[in-house]
Amino acid sequence: MNQPAARVPSDFIRDIVAADLATHKHGGRVVTRFPPEPNGYLHIGHAKSICLNFGIALENGGVCHLRFDDTNPAKEDVEYVESIQGDVRWLGFDWRDKLFYASDYFEQLHDYAVQLIRAGKAYVDSLSAEELRAHRGTLTAPGRDSPYRDRSVEENLRLFAAMRAGEFAEGTHVLRAKIDMASPNINMRDPAIFRIKHAPHHRTGDRWCVYPMYDFAHALSDAIEGITHSICTLEFEDHRPLYDWVLDNLPVPSHPQQIEFARLNLSYVVLSKRKLLELVAEGRVSGWDDPRMPTLAGLRRRGYTPEAIRAFCLAVGVAKRNSVVDVAMLEHAVRDDLNKRAPRAMAVLRPLRVVIDNFPDDRVEEMEAVNNPEDASMGTRRVPFSRVLYIERDDFREDPPKQFFRLAPGREVRLRYGYFIRCERVVKDDSGAVVELHCTYDPATRGGDAPDGRKVKATLHWVSAAHAIPAEVRLYDRLFTVENPTVEKDGVDYRTYLNPRSLEALVGCQLEPSLAGAQPGSRYQFERHGYFCTDSVDSAPGRLIFNRTVGLRDTWAKIERASAS
Ligand code: ATP
Ligand code: MG
Repeated sequence: MNQPAARVPSDFIRDIVAADLATHKHGGRVVTRFPPEPNGYLHIGHAKSICLNFGIALENGGVCHLRFDDTNPAKEDVEYVESIQGDVRWLGFDWRDKLFYASDYFEQLHDYAVQLIRAGKAYVDSLSAEELRAHRGTLTAPGRDSPYRDRSVEENLRLFAAMRAGEFAEGTHVLRAKIDMASPNINMRDPAIFRIKHAPHHRTGDRWCVYPMYDFAHALSDAIEGITHSICTLEFEDHRPLYDWVLDNLPVPSHPQQIEFARLNLSYVVLSKRKLLELVAEGRVSGWDDPRMPTLAGLRRRGYTPEAIRAFCLAVGVAKRNSVVDVAMLEHAVRDDLNKRAPRAMAVLRPLRVVIDNFPDDRVEEMEAVNNPEDASMGTRRVPFSRVLYIERDDFREDPPKQFFRLAPGREVRLRYGYFIRCERVVKDDSGAVVELHCTYDPATRGGDAPDGRKVKATLHWVSAAHAIPAEVRLYDRLFTVENPTVEKDGVDYRTYLNPRSLEALVGCQLEPSLAGAQPGSRYQFERHGYFCTDSVDSAPGRLIFNRTVGLRDTWAKIERASAS
């Protein structure tokens, strides 16, 4: 995307950036970064951070770096590096030539650590993990100094060199910043800055067996790259003193400002990479791109557009306090976008055969159908009408309840773009199930109105049986049955709340013939059903599969209307 979104409401971060530009604080530069750890696929929460970081850069003639925070080789993989780049591009953002990896700075970060040791500001600790925990103290009790805290600079240099040379086992030694074990902020109680890890790294291979810790690597990577505004989520507020300590105690080329905002939480959705990885690894979903997943890969396969996701992120806004956003707001965003863009089509998901007894056997009429009532420029198409049709099973009731206005014995309804038909006879199988309806049509009602002015109360969609394209249609429901699946009340695991009916695959659906050539990833509105997208993974020539992106009913619009009134 080369242009900022048309109208971006301001927020406290944009206000800070504007004020810094006004005072020329960073020499008039705006440099942000999006720093994912390549240990999973990006989700809709990351989209909020991407839109914010890339958006602010774009709005101010700046640039946003894509930096992989790849400091934990045990959990990271090139598969994730590649998916993350693809997802950021798909969302519509461009890092130009500013693609970086924290691992590119390992040598430099190591040298910075050595400088801290020389300055007496870092030491090698040889306590076990358990002892380290015991010395750390608690929120109310201060920590205690390690017996190794006063090692000489020479000894620290020698031990750190030996750590790097691979002479020690994992967990036997750690390099710590020497700050203040009595600090009320636990993050300042001599945090670890380098640890031993005997694991090959996806980029540096076996070159390293010591790796920098997040807080150390992150602050320094920001400074090395000349980031001006380092935007992160609220959990890092308590880490800001450490971020600043690292930069204040080393001769870094710049000192970025860390600013925290509230992460996105969505009702009925889990947004933790660790949990999403569990769902994938345990086979509870078909993969990271399962259309029920809140990942960008899943949302894309489901039929979400980048425009819808960006609009959602703008609508959510940027706040300083955590809250939970109604998932209906995300659904509203995609419905709103597709309403304007998706061509309409008729699709019968649960077909019931209808024979029009007075329609000639060999006749096919071409009915003109509007592609998008929201956009006349999308034109019209022709839909064949013939003697045998399919309608939705749900559109017929043998014994209609009071409020049911669709087809029933003796009743007349309109077929969209077609004729009025009247149900004359019901055919059942041995079990008593309705298998076919016999109807008559009124030739004078072509196009949808009766010249004598008589009215019908329902308009049904349909497809011509002889021309229909068979397809599988996958209907999705929320992956979790409760609003907040990760509040683990009474020790109940979030997986307990997985919705057993989150996927319903309908086979033998019948689609209008114009959908025969639907390309992978094409999106449509199936009239009266919702928005659908061809499945880009499982579809094959001769095997058309559609995913339901979202139904037509818009509960969010109702919520908005209710709160406005
Ligand atoms: P998770 O908690 O899901 O494991 P993470 O924060 O560890 O996510 P990172 O790869 O470190 O994942 O995230 C990259 C960037 O995206 C960080 O700057 C982080 O603050 C931001 N981010 C992650 N989750 C959200 C969210 N739910 N809302 C907004 N920003 C987020
Ligand atoms: Mg993280």
